[in-house]
Amino acid sequence: MAETSATPSSIATVHGYPRQGPDRELKKAIEGYWAGRVTAEELRDVAARLRRGNWRQLADAGVREVPTGDFSLYDHVLDTSVMVGAIPGRHRAAIEADTLDGYFAMARGTRDVAPLEMTKWFDTNYHYLVPELGPDTVFIADLTKPVGELREAVELGHTARPVLVGPVTYLLLAKPEPGADPGFDPLTLLDRLLPVYAQVLAALRAGGAEWVQLDEPALVQDRPRTVLEAAARAYRELGTLADRPKILVASYFDRLGEALPVLAEAPIEGLGLDFTGPAAANLDDLARVGGLPGKRLIAGVVDGRNVWINDLGRSLSTLATLLGLAGRVDVAASCSLLHVPLDTALEHGIDPQVGRWLAFARQKTAEIATLARGLSEGTGAVAGQLAANRADLASRAASALTRDPAVRSRCAAVTPQDTRRPQPYPERAAAQRAALGLPSLPTTTIGSFPQTAELRAARADLRAGRIDQAAYDERIASEIRSVLVFQEAAGIDVLVHGEPERNDMVQYFAERLNGYLATQHGWVQSYGTRYVRPPILAGDVSRPEPMTLRWTTYAQSQTGRPVKGMLTGPVTMLAWSFVRDDQPQADTARQVALALRDEVADLEAAGTVVIQVDEPALRETLPLRAADRAAYLAWATEAFRLATSGVQARTQIHTHMCYAEFGEILAAIDDLDADVISLEAARSHMQVAHELAEAGYPREAGPGVYDIHSPRVPGVEEIASLLRKALDGIAAERLWVNPDCGLKTRGWLEVRASLDNLVAAAREVRAEVTGAIG
Ligand SMILES: [Zn+2]
Repeated sequence: MAETSATPSSIATVHGYPRQGPDRELKKAIEGYWAGRVTAEELRDVAARLRRGNWRQLADAGVREVPTGDFSLYDHVLDTSVMVGAIPGRHRAAIEADTLDGYFAMARGTRDVAPLEMTKWFDTNYHYLVPELGPDTVFIADLTKPVGELREAVELGHTARPVLVGPVTYLLLAKPEPGADPGFDPLTLLDRLLPVYAQVLAALRAGGAEWVQLDEPALVQDRPRTVLEAAARAYRELGTLADRPKILVASYFDRLGEALPVLAEAPIEGLGLDFTGPAAANLDDLARVGGLPGKRLIAGVVDGRNVWINDLGRSLSTLATLLGLAGRVDVAASCSLLHVPLDTALEHGIDPQVGRWLAFARQKTAEIATLARGLSEGTGAVAGQLAANRADLASRAASALTRDPAVRSRCAAVTPQDTRRPQPYPERAAAQRAALGLPSLPTTTIGSFPQTAELRAARADLRAGRIDQAAYDERIASEIRSVLVFQEAAGIDVLVHGEPERNDMVQYFAERLNGYLATQHGWVQSYGTRYVRPPILAGDVSRPEPMTLRWTTYAQSQTGRPVKGMLTGPVTMLAWSFVRDDQPQADTARQVALALRDEVADLEAAGTVVIQVDEPALRETLPLRAADRAAYLAWATEAFRLATSGVQARTQIHTHMCYAEFGEILAAIDDLDADVISLEAARSHMQVAHELAEAGYPREAGPGVYDIHSPRVPGVEEIASLLRKALDGIAAERLWVNPDCGLKTRGWLEVRASLDNLVAAAREVRAEVTGAIG
């Protein structure tokens, strides 16, 4: 590429940084506070120290404008609710008595009061607390956090840019408060909310902020005209305030599309755009609207949600193009670095060569600083970094880990027939009926049984070397035996082994497949104090040996009833991992599918007649823009079928999904071509059964009749009436009876009573159905 001209005004910045600290200090302090071991003052000290450490780290890495307000004790959307005074009535007394305890009560509930609902932050694995708003909501500014954290940073000598959730996104993420008309649209509160934002902006300016960033990621989704008009109005009003800082509106996770001209024309001083993945289309779109003359652009060219090093040369080209499209171009990650682990330097178990391909938050910050310097001073100023980056990219491309010829030739040889079961469904259904000999309305469970303290102790004992592998295995075997004995006694028809050997439905398989890496400290926030350590899908995937055969066949040897083989599907194996960015996801999914196909074949050969492949992530991975969904669903469903279609007609393939709102993916569920699907339904009162019926879903289905999210034991009559409702949509010969989801998080006492009731209800309704036929 051409030498970029010197533009000293380009700086490095980020939208947000991981909150937890290198040793998850924040989690420990908060949980200590909940347990009464840590005082409020100690917790506030830990939080302030972590913020200071983050700003120091960023400044040392060359970040010239640090974010404030991105830090949170639980969740930044909850922080926004507090900032605008949107405290639900049921939490008001608690927050008035003690702001910290009231805050945590909103997040987690108390014995008497329910928390706010939690849901996924766009298509990430982070969860936010859903604001509850109603026609009577009164907003009142609470400046404590935004101004307090800005002041901390300024006093330490940093140039700080406060980051807030923008007013339009805040309202779009909200739901009607309990008791409000369910059709109530929170966006109608915009005019009431804007004065509060005006007040916050004025206070931040008085507190020393030249710039304030308002995040509007909700505008990267397909939005009706009314929403775009609301966004235009919001930024016209905020932009024409007399007493305000410079305003930067940031978007991320996808392209702004039709919202781009709206924001480009708004009387604000800057925009933040994502230029990675599907959002790369922002580059052409920006040229089409004539760029952002006179405005500041924060260019998100470093992927903020994946763990791979940036292609610095390519990013510099993009940045050079952008220089012609905006008044000033600064460099950032595509979104907050909240979604990646903190530091690859903490990882000692990863081959150092492979480690050089990885960039966590700290490494991404260094990349951003390099890019800003290259942009300002010319590529010559960062020649060393560029050369090292090229070498690392080349080593990744040439590595045996990322290029396994056997995997590649097998993937290339996949034919359309490999992704279709040879027999049409009616033929399979008949063969399965004959082979399984199940009663009508057969009963089963989803897979996992309660993870007891004994099981956790056994795992800890094995790790600590207090017991050997043989002793551990005997504990697993004994747990499987007792789960089977319980199910037989309860009268369940299709059994599960209970999964006592599995820590997590993705990690268990990731640990057994070539191509996956595990981290020791790669924690990312899932919600509140819950952190997960996603595996990294780094190379070509293959299965060195069977993964589930041993315990599945052991369980089958202990009972005369069918035991389900339990696998995690290819889409979920990708969705809950960091995936490689050097090939299309469809190719990675196909590799995982082929490994699973071999496992399915081994299970079948060993006598497993029912095999369940779970895809709880199928819907959550749906692209944010409708235009991208068909292509995604095509490869996602094909990967599932590739994994499951190598079996004989009489082998029954099940799948399971953990949600009730699947209107958008009904056709895709049909495309999976599974013989049986189990779904969450108890909380939606069997709405799913009607939706399946309306869509003409032809195969067997088990809409859940026991809500496992609650410790409540459902009564026989309650379950029976849900089954009768299900029969309105699903014929008796196609209806299964099962809980909503796995039983891992429940206690044995409730599970026993609930499954007894479930079997009794199935018998009762089965008798009614048979009586009606006879
Ligand atoms: Zn589930």
